[in-house]
Amino acid sequence: MSDPPTSTLKPTTPVSELPGVGPARVKLYHRLGLRSVTDLLRHYPLRYEHHAAVGDIAALDELPKDAVGAARGTVENTRWVGPPHRGRKGRFEATLSDDTGTLLLTWFNAAWLRDKLHPGMTLDVQGKVKRFQNYPQMVNAKWAEVKKDEDPESPANDSADEPNREDRLQPVYPATDGLPSTIIAKLIDSILDDAVAQVEDPVPGELIAHHEMPRLAEAFRMIHRPADADEHRRARRRLAFNELLLLQLGIALKRAHVRHHLKAPPLRFSDAIDQHIRKRFPFPLTGAQDRSVAEIANDLQRGYPMNRLLQGDVGAGKTVVSLYAMLLAVADRKQAALMAPTELLAEQHFASIQRMLEGSDVRIDLFTANHPGDREALASGELDLAVGTHALLSESVAFHDLAVAVVDEQHRFGVRQRAALRGGEDKTDVPHTLVMTATPIPRTLSLTLFGDLDVSTLDELPPGRTPITNRVVMPLQADEVYEYAAGRVQRGEQVYVVVPTIDGDAPGSKSSASKPDGKNLKNLTDHAAMLAQRFFADHRVGAVHGRMSPEERQAVMDDFRAGEVAVLVATTVIEVGVDVPNATVMIIEHAERFGLAQLHQLRGRIGRGTNQRRPLCVFIADPTTEDATKRLEAIASTNDGFKIAEHDLAIRGMGDFFGTRQAGAVPLRLAQIPEDLDLLKMAGRDAETMIDADPSFSSDPNALLRRVLLHQHGESLGLIDVG
Ligand code: ADP
Ligand code: MG
Repeated sequence: MSDPPTSTLKPTTPVSELPGVGPARVKLYHRLGLRSVTDLLRHYPLRYEHHAAVGDIAALDELPKDAVGAARGTVENTRWVGPPHRGRKGRFEATLSDDTGTLLLTWFNAAWLRDKLHPGMTLDVQGKVKRFQNYPQMVNAKWAEVKKDEDPESPANDSADEPNREDRLQPVYPATDGLPSTIIAKLIDSILDDAVAQVEDPVPGELIAHHEMPRLAEAFRMIHRPADADEHRRARRRLAFNELLLLQLGIALKRAHVRHHLKAPPLRFSDAIDQHIRKRFPFPLTGAQDRSVAEIANDLQRGYPMNRLLQGDVGAGKTVVSLYAMLLAVADRKQAALMAPTELLAEQHFASIQRMLEGSDVRIDLFTANHPGDREALASGELDLAVGTHALLSESVAFHDLAVAVVDEQHRFGVRQRAALRGGEDKTDVPHTLVMTATPIPRTLSLTLFGDLDVSTLDELPPGRTPITNRVVMPLQADEVYEYAAGRVQRGEQVYVVVPTIDGDAPGSKSSASKPDGKNLKNLTDHAAMLAQRFFADHRVGAVHGRMSPEERQAVMDDFRAGEVAVLVATTVIEVGVDVPNATVMIIEHAERFGLAQLHQLRGRIGRGTNQRRPLCVFIADPTTEDATKRLEAIASTNDGFKIAEHDLAIRGMGDFFGTRQAGAVPLRLAQIPEDLDLLKMAGRDAETMIDADPSFSSDPNALLRRVLLHQHGESLGLIDVG
C-alpha cells in the first residue's frame, strides 16, 4: 500500500473498457484486430500528416505538399453560391485576412454556415492548403471562432482542434468503414501516456544502449506521437529491430535446440572416401559444386542433424551434390534416401544415379506407385539407397538405418514437412537432411525465410552450356514464331509449347462462357490440333496436361523423350523435372499470365544439352498490367535465377513473396527486407550472442524475452518442441 495507483490501465485492458468506446465501436476495433491496449500500441500509423503550427497566411504558401496548415485571421467577405444544377453541390465561401495576406475558404454543401460566419469575426482555421488562382485556399477547413473579449489564445469553439503552437506530425492509422483514422488517433492519443508507462522492455538495456536506440516505451510514444521526422525514424528502427531480434532469436534458439537435443549419426570422412565418391562422377565438379560438397561433408561429420538447403538454377547440377551426400552415408554402411515431388522425377533420378553407380556394389531401388520397390530389403538394411516420391516419408516406410535424406524440388517446404522427415515432432534421433530447390530465394530473404537452414548455393552452371536466348513477342507475331520453330524441327530439334490452361478457361472462372477479362485463352487440344495442321504437318504433335491419367501422360512423354513426338503442347505440368536435352525451343502462350518464378522454371526445361543449337525461349504475351510488363522485361533480361528472384521480390513486395512461398513464414509489420538488411544482420549477431551465452534461453534476465518470443513466434517458427 505504499505507491498509490497512478493508472488503472493495463496492457491487457480490453478496448471495450476504454473511455468513449461503446459497443458498436468495439466491434469495429475488433474488426481491425484491436482488442487490448497492447494491440492499440502496436497499431502503427501508416503515415503522418504534417500539421503546421498556426502562422501567417503568407507563410501557408511555403508549406510542403499535402501539409495541413493553420492560420488566424479576420473574415472579410462571405457568400453562398447555390448549386449550379440539380445534383451539384452548393458552396459557402469566405475570405480570411491577416497582415500578410488573404486566404480563400470554401465549404461545400454548407448552407448552414450562412448563419455562423460573418465579416469581422476572428477565426482559427486548419486544413490542407491548395492554391486557387493566386491565393492560398482551404477546402472544408476546420474552424473555430476566437471571441474578441476572451483570451485570444483560447478558442471558444471547442469543435475544432486547439491551434498548434508547434509543427506536429498527425498519425494516419489503418482504419475501417465507420471507424476513421481520426477517431482511432484520438483514442490512442488519450491512452498513450498511461499505456507506455506500463511497457516493459524485454530487450536488455545494455544492448539497446549499445545500439543507441530508444527504450521500447519511448519508441511506442514516438511512433504514435513523433515530435519530428527524426523521432519517427528512430522509433520505427527500434520497433523493426524488435521484430527482427525476435525472429533471429527464434531461429538461433531452434538451431541451439537441434545442436543440443537432436542426434544424427556422425559420418566418417576422409580424403580416400572423398576421392572414391568423386570417381563415380563422369565429370569434374564445378567450383560451386565443390564448395557445396565441402559444406555438406562438414555437416555430416557432426553428431547433430544437418539442415541444409541446396539452391541452384535448373541444370546447375544439384543431383551429383546430393549423390555425394548420400554416398557418404553409404560409405559408412548406412542408408540414404532421395525423394522427388513426382513419379517422373523420381524415375529420372533413379535412372541417372543408377548410371553413375554402375559397376559399384551400392544397392539401390526405386519406390513409386508404379514401382513399389523392395520394402523388406529397405527395412533389413540390404538396400543402401532408396529413390522415391515424397510418399517415401508419409507412408511409414521403414528404413534400417537412414542417415541422409534428400528432398528434391520442394518449393513449399514448411515446418511440418521437416518434422515429418525426422519421424515426428518428438523424435530426437533424426537423419541429416538436404533440401534442394531450383526456385532460389533472394539472399537477403533467405536469412529470414529459411533462417534455421544452412544454405549452399550453386551459382555457376557446368561448362559447355549455351545460354538461352529470350524473346518477348506480341500475339500477332505468333505465326512467325511457329514457322521459325518448324524450321528447327526440320533440323531434328524438339519444341515445347506451353499454354496456361487445358480448356481455355481463365483459372478461377466457372465456365468457359464467363471469362472475366474477356480474353480467349488458347485451348490446349485445339491449339495442338491447329499446330499439327498448320505448322508441323510432317511431324507428331503430342499433348500433356494434368487431367490425363498418369499412364497416358507417361506414354506421350516417353515418345517425346524418344524423339518420336517433335512438338509437345503442355500445361505447366512440365514445369518440374522433365529432362529432354534435344528440346531446344520453348514457346509460352499468354506468358503475361504466369508468375515470374514459374516462367523461369518453365524455361529451365530447355538448354539442358551441351553443344546444341542456341536454345530459344519465346514469350508470346499481351501484357495489360504494369506488373505483367515488368515480369516480362525481367524474364527477358536475364537467365540467372537469383536475379529473377530479386526481381520477383521487387515486383510483388515482401508480403506476397512470403505468402506464397513459405508456409511457416513470419509476418513482419514494420521491418522491410531488403531495406532493413543492416538491422537484420545486427539482430542476427545479437541473437547468436544471447543464445550462445544461454543456449536454452531460460536464464532470469531472458525470461520476459523468451515469453514474448514463444507467444509471438512459437507457432510460425515451430518452436513448440523447443518450448
Ligand atoms: P539440377 O538438378 O540442378 O537441375 P542436374 O543435377 O540434373 O541439375 O544436372 C544437369 C545436367 O548437368 C546433368 O545432365 C548433369 O549430368 C550435368 N552436370 C552436372 N554437374 C556437372 C559438371 N560439373 N560438369 C558437367 N556436367 C555436369
Ligand atoms: Mg534436379
